[in-house]
Amino acid sequence: MHPIASSPFSAVPGAADSIRIRALRAAVLSRLLPWFRLHRRALPWRRRRTPYRVWIAELMLQQTRVDQVVPYYERFMRRFPSLRALARASRAEVLKAWEGMGYYARARHMHDAARLIAGPLRGRFPRTPEKLMKLPGIGRYTANAVASLAFAFDAAVLDGNVIRVLARVLAFDRDVTATSAREELQRVADRLIVRGRAGEVNEALMELGAICCLPRNPACDRCPLRGVCRARLAGRPEAYPVKRRRKPVPHKVVGAGVVINRCGEILIAQRKESSMLGGLWEFPGGTRERGESMPECIARELKEELGISTEVGRRLVVVHHAYSHFTIDLHAHWARIVKGRPRAIHCADFAWTTIQGLRKYAFSAADLAIIEALEKATPSSIPFPWPRAGRPPSC
Ligand code: SF4
Repeated sequence: MHPIASSPFSAVPGAADSIRIRALRAAVLSRLLPWFRLHRRALPWRRRRTPYRVWIAELMLQQTRVDQVVPYYERFMRRFPSLRALARASRAEVLKAWEGMGYYARARHMHDAARLIAGPLRGRFPRTPEKLMKLPGIGRYTANAVASLAFAFDAAVLDGNVIRVLARVLAFDRDVTATSAREELQRVADRLIVRGRAGEVNEALMELGAICCLPRNPACDRCPLRGVCRARLAGRPEAYPVKRRRKPVPHKVVGAGVVINRCGEILIAQRKESSMLGGLWEFPGGTRERGESMPECIARELKEELGISTEVGRRLVVVHHAYSHFTIDLHAHWARIVKGRPRAIHCADFAWTTIQGLRKYAFSAADLAIIEALEKATPSSIPFPWPRAGRPPSC
């Protein structure tokens, strides 16, 4: 029997595990790397590889699929072709370019890091994982990826694709969501690194997970590691990686006011930098409390956030959106001010803008869906008086 097929990978590494890892390392060199040279996808960040381009790609690829990232990446590179261009940009410009990607803390940290490299570090990009990890928003995975891909540093990466491949090849039967199991897999990945070729090994493992060792229906018949894969030999590739059952994701019902004035302008608020989606603009509102109707929720939130008393009218749209740790139903209702002037009480700033002007600001995906509904709205759908052409009212 093949040494890798004899038993599950144990929590306490022993001689059998060492033999398995050596066999896997040999297969990586003789099978996986040649396969990668033939099958690697022509992705934009693989052209003209610079530390800046690698870093931006790795940030965007965290928790986002490659096919979604490609158009964002190309647009972003046209807008900010160099680290210096990114460092010079305002926060609003960066958030606007990141709009729709989600995980906006990543964009803020990226901007802070670019300013740090362009300023105090005098344009010198840190080259080792330890130094990279001192930059805002760079953890172990990104540091190892940038150091190995951009600077040929011998560091192994462990992303979701690599975890799946290793867990299957080794029939790793521990819960991979546990920190100790991840550390164990990181040690395995470290031992697979071929000196001076870490970037190539990392990319090959990630590519295998992305296009061959898929979460469902892995293409084992054309996999370069099939000869050493214990999960395949056991006929149960989809049994790995082992993950503890997820807790149900919480769901929130949220109200947002589309506050319109007599000039047809819409009131928007900017979220505080320290909050989730910090720095982005939104239709002001918040989570519905127990026993509240949706208009009551929106009126209360507008009072708390902006100090205005409002009349809340009919619903414009309901948007369902999933964040990483919860889902929301966002109910957007028309509203108008009946008393008071907006003040930034629980927000960073506010602005009045025309419907056409909304696209100049950076919004989250859920609020962008409200903008789409607004752009399709007709004057007759607005439950309040609409300004007549030729008679500009005072707003
Ligand atoms: S043989 Fe199948 S399960 Fe094993 S690594 Fe290859 S694709 Fe994944």
